[in-house]
Amino acid sequence: MVTGDAAYIKKINRSFLISKIIEHGLVSRAELSKITGLNKATISVQVADLLNEELIVETQQEHNNLGRRPIMLSLNRKAGFALGIDLDYKQITFTLSDLLGFPLSSETISLNTSDYENVLELLVENIQSFQEKCSNSQYGIVGIVIGIHGIVTEDEIIHFVPQHNWHNKNLKLDIKAKTGIAPHIKNNANLCAFAEQVYNHHESENLLCVSLYSGIGLGIMINGELYEGYHGYAGEMGHMIIVPNGKPCNCGNKGCWEQYASESIFFKQLSEKQNKTDITYLDIQNWINDPDAIISQEMNDYIEYLSIGLNNIINLYNPETIVLNSELLKMHPESINEIKARLTSSVSHFEELLVSEFGKEACVMGACSLAIKNFLEIPELKLNIEEEDIPKIAVDVPTWR
Ligand SMILES: [Zn+2]
Repeated sequence: MVTGDAAYIKKINRSFLISKIIEHGLVSRAELSKITGLNKATISVQVADLLNEELIVETQQEHNNLGRRPIMLSLNRKAGFALGIDLDYKQITFTLSDLLGFPLSSETISLNTSDYENVLELLVENIQSFQEKCSNSQYGIVGIVIGIHGIVTEDEIIHFVPQHNWHNKNLKLDIKAKTGIAPHIKNNANLCAFAEQVYNHHESENLLCVSLYSGIGLGIMINGELYEGYHGYAGEMGHMIIVPNGKPCNCGNKGCWEQYASESIFFKQLSEKQNKTDITYLDIQNWINDPDAIISQEMNDYIEYLSIGLNNIINLYNPETIVLNSELLKMHPESINEIKARLTSSVSHFEELLVSEFGKEACVMGACSLAIKNFLEIPELKLNIEEEDIPKIAVDVPTWR
């Protein structure tokens, strides 16, 4: 099977070259040969193919002291677009990025229904409008990835979304039937972990991302790959029991971590103590800036329970990087040191613990970058954007309310 092998090797070389072109931004053929160890003839054939497909472009460098201006190669970032969708409880965010994962537009629409057919219709309408907008580019929409705040099977069927009370929905097929594109359906915590690795922690192959909002979800990257478990349900750490016979949870058990350390519980408890309904993030920010005994005690309890769960996760994975995705912790930067002060076991080890810069945007950014990685069929993706280029999703009112 010589031809089969040759085709396989060609494909491997191609994906390796594309990921190196993305990583280096602008790179000459000679540099590519040096970086990849592939000979110049191989590089030349592959580059010609990629130029033909309009996946890369050539540019002549302006200044070169040696007199010869090398021709530089870069990814043709406008050849197509990735669409990342965060399907949350009360809102849907659509972010369109170029092929280098740079967000070009981001819009959030509110969602006032849990009816599956209505939500499907909304998604289809919006996807069709993006297909139309992108139809003039070489590849149009290259991929759509939808983040689900619930359990997704390994073959991308929605198993259960607690807040919409959806069971066994094949959103992938339903959208494909109406738009012609089969989106990838992923758990939002997994997409958050993927975004952290692709954009912010290139060198961290063993990364955990804990999303703390209506519940607690864990995205797991092991050796640079998302770990989703046998059925696809790995990372449901919100249902790890941390208090024996504790508060009842909707999963049927008592004392689950998310009954103590999710943001929604923090809001609920604070609301009871402060005797104020509909607390917003702004209220919390004001209380943190000007703390009283109630907020100090609540924050202290929250961090205590959060640290207990983190300690357990650290013992399970021995991660290099742990990213906490939480608007609440973002508002209270001191919290990281307070958590670290509680992680003092001589057994549990990690390298780095920090709060996500992406916050609520992590899901759509992970969705866009996963769509790009799938389209280009590359083994690893390293993207760079500046913090000010990250779209900001309004988070004044909690999304679970
Ligand atoms: Zn539970």
